[in-house]
Amino acid sequence: MTSILDTLGRPLANLRLSVTDRCNLRCAYCMPEEDYAWLPKKSILSFEEIARLVGVFTTVGVTKVRITGGEPLLRRELSNLVRLLAVHPRIDDLALTTNGILLAEQARALRSAGLKRITVSLDTLKPAVFRELAKRDGLEHVLAGIRAARDAGFDALKLDSVMIRGTNDAELCDLLEFAKAERAELRYIEYMDVGGATQWRAEQVVSRAELLTRLAERYGPIEPLREISSAPAERFRLSDGTVFGIIASTTAPFCRSCDRSRLTADGMWYRCLYATQGTNLRDALRSGATDAELADLVTQGWRSRADRGAEERLAEHSRGAFAPREELVKNPHLEMHKRGG
Ligand code: SAM
Ligand code: SF4
Ligand code: SF4
Repeated sequence: MTSILDTLGRPLANLRLSVTDRCNLRCAYCMPEEDYAWLPKKSILSFEEIARLVGVFTTVGVTKVRITGGEPLLRRELSNLVRLLAVHPRIDDLALTTNGILLAEQARALRSAGLKRITVSLDTLKPAVFRELAKRDGLEHVLAGIRAARDAGFDALKLDSVMIRGTNDAELCDLLEFAKAERAELRYIEYMDVGGATQWRAEQVVSRAELLTRLAERYGPIEPLREISSAPAERFRLSDGTVFGIIASTTAPFCRSCDRSRLTADGMWYRCLYATQGTNLRDALRSGATDAELADLVTQGWRSRADRGAEERLAEHSRGAFAPREELVKNPHLEMHKRGG
């Protein structure tokens, strides 16, 4: 299957599927506010609707699907969706990103439903820092979830850590040691000024350059792995063989090779994390569009795509949060937890 190309020659290959906008944590970098407006229940796509849209996306090039949210494990019977997607012959990579809180109870069911890979977000190993960052307790559930996932057979486990200066960056090396012990691959994520991150400040970003300097001070020489990939993480190796990744979306964005788009739980399709306009595929689907008509909508949308959101943010002189709270209240689809991280 050859993929359609956007205006910068980028193929459509990756689809992030947000299955809910609800979350059981309130991470300071994603959902720092007291109240949120939730998507109306009747607007949420059923698993059958999602599977049909994913099927349409695969006809125009999508081969990689990542289930996300909000917190995807809050969506009831998620393994039923996994089962629908896992049998799709054109999807060669089916993955999930979760905060891990409910993973211990669901890992086996997800595995037997056909899920291939899991990424767990893990920003700290300290219960007090977890509470400060996520405004909830639950670190022990996340750690139990990581072990349960490995026991269920997810051996290519990834752990994602958003580094925030003054909050969890003192744990840089502890997180790497933990990942090593768990045979997981750690990926440091630069704090991004995405919609929802209303408390973002440039000083809190721990850049890729700083991460590498600090890691080299502890571990010695770090070798970059030469890989040809559209994946956001650049990978590195320590002299003892430990491999880790850095997602430098803030200081060194990778828009030029970005083949990702996002479908929200209510069927809005966004072609960039920072896009302010999306395509309402739910209304088209529910008003009786055929698969060919839906594929046309996707094709037109992708062919006109010129987004380079993170690169444009980088070029701004004085940088603050992407969208102030008032704007998020008016347009909740701008929020990372709606759009699907
Ligand atoms: N709730 C799930 C989780 O936390 O893994 C899935 C959805 S969450 C929006 C997906 C990813 O986005 C998480 O790894 C989270 O750390 C990341 N994320 C959210 N806000 C971010 C920000 N401001 N900067 C960088 N990464 C962010
Ligand atoms: Fe945290 Fe993920 Fe929930 Fe956002 S969606 S608050 S990153 S757990
Ligand atoms: Fe892709 Fe937009 Fe992120 Fe750039 S900012 S990498 S174009 S989603």
